[in-house]
Amino acid sequence: MMESTPDRLAQINAEIAHNCKIAKRQLDSVQLIAVSKTKDSNDIIPLLHAGHRRFGENRVQEAQTKWPELKSAYADVELHLIGQLQSNKAVDAVHMFDCIHTLDRQSLILALGAAMREAGKNLPCFLQVNIGDEPQKGGCAIADIAALLELAKSENIAVVGLMCLPPAGIEAAPFFALLAELAARHDLPQLSMGMSDDFGTAVQMGATHVRVGSALFGKRAV
Ligand SMILES: *Cc1c(COP(=O)(O)O)cnc(C)c1O
Repeated sequence: MMESTPDRLAQINAEIAHNCKIAKRQLDSVQLIAVSKTKDSNDIIPLLHAGHRRFGENRVQEAQTKWPELKSAYADVELHLIGQLQSNKAVDAVHMFDCIHTLDRQSLILALGAAMREAGKNLPCFLQVNIGDEPQKGGCAIADIAALLELAKSENIAVVGLMCLPPAGIEAAPFFALLAELAARHDLPQLSMGMSDDFGTAVQMGATHVRVGSALFGKRAV
């Protein structure tokens, strides 16, 4: 018999609980973000029925096509933006999302600061760090963290933690450890790290938000 998405949700929650236990962490210190990019309402609704409310999308435009309707049916849905954000989409992002994980540069921080003032919102945000120093990836350089945090503060943006996407194909744990150390150095309590292949390791290394897509919904077509 084929496993359903709610079955996989239960397995992932069990694996998070198992890793919390190993790391002697409270279960409620880790939040699972179900990454529903490329998936449509038919894929998402079974998870809503199963009681899950925290979802992640990587594109503002895609989120606008499916979430307004779902959010009106499930008012307590919490939507996280986990993909790169263009400054000219900051206003739309502030309207659609409850948390933004991809602050990574001066122009975006200024645009989001203005958009949040205009909307009268103060969304919690993560600063994304290019932890493996890869040219093709989003995220700021480690050397720029302090200045960007200072700028976000002057814009009244609540940066709650750091986020990273470690290099593919190699052991992620050292990168998770480095992100945790950087967050501690800057007194930031939250860590957005860990995906389908490594969320258990991320939990052991202190992740407060794990972002899981394919392990939950199945492989994506693209
Ligand atoms: C797609 C995506 C994920 C989820 O990846 P999976 O390997 O499918 O779990 C997590 N974080 C970001 C930033 C993503 O774009």
